[in-house]
Amino acid sequence: MNYSGLTLDNDYQISETEYSLENEAKAASLLTTGNGYLGVRGSIEEYGSLCVQGAYIRGIIDEVYELPTPLLDNEYMKKHYFNEPELRRFQKQEKVVNFADFLLVRIRINGEIFFPWEGRLLFWNRTLDIANGRLVRNVRWENNKGEITTLAFTRFASFENDHIYAIKVDIIPENYTGQVEILTGIDGMTKTNGQLIAERIDAHTEDKFTYYTNKSGNKYGFVIATAVKNELYVSGKSQTIDWKDASDSEIVAVKCCFTARERKTYSLEKTIYITTSRDVDNPSETAETEIKKTANFNDLYFAHRASWKDFFEKSDVIIEGDDIANRALRFNNYHTAISICRHDHIHSLGAKGLTGEVYGNWIWWDCEAYQAPFFNYSQPNYAKNLIMYRYSKLDAARNNAKTEGKHGARYPFNSSVTGDETVWKYVKHPFLQIHVVSDIGLNICHYYEATQDDRLMIDYGMEILYEICRYWIDTVTWRNNRYEILNVTGTDEHHPDVDNNAYTNYSVKEVFEKTIYYSKKFGSLLDNVKRKIGFEETEENKLKEIADKLYLPIDNISGLIPQFDGYFNLSRDLEISGGSSAKEFQMKSSGMYHKSQVIKQPDVLMIFACLNHKFDQKIYKRNWNYYLARCESSSSLSYPIHAICSADLDMMESTYQFFIKNILIDLLDEHNCTVQGIHSACAAGAWLAAVRGIGGVELQEDGVHLHPHMIGWWESLRFSFYWHSQFIKVVLTNEEISISSDHNNSKDIVLFFNNEKHILSAGSDLTIKGLLSIIRM
Ligand code: BGC
Repeated sequence: MNYSGLTLDNDYQISETEYSLENEAKAASLLTTGNGYLGVRGSIEEYGSLCVQGAYIRGIIDEVYELPTPLLDNEYMKKHYFNEPELRRFQKQEKVVNFADFLLVRIRINGEIFFPWEGRLLFWNRTLDIANGRLVRNVRWENNKGEITTLAFTRFASFENDHIYAIKVDIIPENYTGQVEILTGIDGMTKTNGQLIAERIDAHTEDKFTYYTNKSGNKYGFVIATAVKNELYVSGKSQTIDWKDASDSEIVAVKCCFTARERKTYSLEKTIYITTSRDVDNPSETAETEIKKTANFNDLYFAHRASWKDFFEKSDVIIEGDDIANRALRFNNYHTAISICRHDHIHSLGAKGLTGEVYGNWIWWDCEAYQAPFFNYSQPNYAKNLIMYRYSKLDAARNNAKTEGKHGARYPFNSSVTGDETVWKYVKHPFLQIHVVSDIGLNICHYYEATQDDRLMIDYGMEILYEICRYWIDTVTWRNNRYEILNVTGTDEHHPDVDNNAYTNYSVKEVFEKTIYYSKKFGSLLDNVKRKIGFEETEENKLKEIADKLYLPIDNISGLIPQFDGYFNLSRDLEISGGSSAKEFQMKSSGMYHKSQVIKQPDVLMIFACLNHKFDQKIYKRNWNYYLARCESSSSLSYPIHAICSADLDMMESTYQFFIKNILIDLLDEHNCTVQGIHSACAAGAWLAAVRGIGGVELQEDGVHLHPHMIGWWESLRFSFYWHSQFIKVVLTNEEISISSDHNNSKDIVLFFNNEKHILSAGSDLTIKGLLSIIRM
């Protein structure tokens, strides 16, 4: 099968075997290389272009003009979706900046420049080599004179040193001896949202080095320094070569010319060092000094590969018996793995990672609800960066609350450099999606449940939790003899401005209960933080009162949870045919969402999949049936949740369908937007669907809770995770589940298998057989 021009023929490789200009922009997203600090789209070295090339650094964001794109001209969009006056003017919007195209390498062979669309391509293979964290391209190219050249490109963003990107190009003349010219450097003509904003400060060359320093834009003016070192090798031997300045307009480059002999290998090693004013005081000097210290390509590659393997092995999931599921899930996990900056918390996880500009690399609720679990479970050392990012924006969240006339912390729906609201001004609903505030709180609790990181809780986590609760104390309304939450938008943005949104109310309740619990648990260890923020006993009592009396919507007769007040009174005649599997989003064109029960993505079902509230299975099933039938899944975030819920309900055929939709969404370009970047929040959701859904793993303070639901025709599902710093591996088949405690572990692991307690001592294994007969229902 063809996945946007790529094939999934190998467990650890995604390959393109034919060049297609038509697929180039999609391939650029899909074949992004990165290390969380840097993200570099998979565009080809000889040619970058608008929407194809892209190089981004975490937190290097500035303002560009945003051209509002009114999706559809209908009543719903006009009245409920868009803020019309704002729509009429060009807005300045924060966006991750496409800072420079440092991939630039042009190879001229006897006067003809190599481009895949010129001459004749005799062989083409571009492969994302996930096992080794690199992008490899092998080409045989015949120019118009009949001269055939083998070209091999390899490149990676170093996992060993965030600031290094390395490229190697091997050139082998097959049937000629001739003149080869290599031009290598940096193209500064890159555009962000179609605009040239990253203004040049300095550009110069010096022998084999190219230096380029520019500014992110006018709002923040972050300085970005890119230094490039070029080396030429002939049959593996370093050459002293005369590099000449070849800069032209915005291209800062050097070139070298030589006679290339038939069948000899000429290798260009291009090493790039990038740093910014968000990292060091003098980015240009640092880049110039550091580039000179970098090792050769092979040494850089081996160091990178070791770090990458060490990292990726812990998050890899292996599905035996279903090649496509196995490979596509790995592709998604690769994209989640390259989305996190491991060594600082200057920024956090963007919904599209560093794979494209759309969504601006802003931090959405996706970060805590969909992306964080991957890291909480499999990379806890780095998961804390997500919380530290939110901590660094706590003052901004306090100010946001103040502007609403409230106490506490009100995190924005989209967070960026300052922690102020960054979402498009012309869209209304995100300003009411305050569920993000409790999503952030819940992630702190989930991180703690998985890690027992007391220090983080005492020093930072509880401060955020108290401030979040304070915000809710000022947001709830006493009405109908209970606390209610009015004027919000839930996760389903097609029903904005509603009262008592189910997901919001249930998640606020959980944040309150957990905050009360941790407040008691840590007791006097929290005296400092309470003193610091003036958190009084009266507020603590208020928390308890609200937790007790917060309205949790449910219809006591039918067991159905109304998504918000009045939801069931909306028309059912307007439903889309085909439910969540309908290909077309009919409601989008008719614009009747506000009058119908059709939802964009799960809201009530999030309660079952992500919160800890315990419901009877019958209630779970009823709500599942009801809301699935009304969900048009026009956000791909629907699929992981639908996969988890159907697995919980042991509906494994449905689980499989949703899981497959989830892992192929970008590979098949199902939502027609892969060119814009990979939806890495959805990709991270796929890991959750496999481990939390099918594997049935939930990490709680008292132990690892397991209630697996295996896909009938899979041979096995293998994954690993940490619980309280102990590394655990699981192999699930249809007959048994084996759980191994790593031999480096030091503590017992508490397991609850379908609620039955087991203790697994350090380094030991436990196998539970006869799974089908003991499936939890
Ligand atoms: C979804 C939001 C999500 C955003 C970014 C939207 O389409 O409706 O829930 O936060 O995409 O992934």
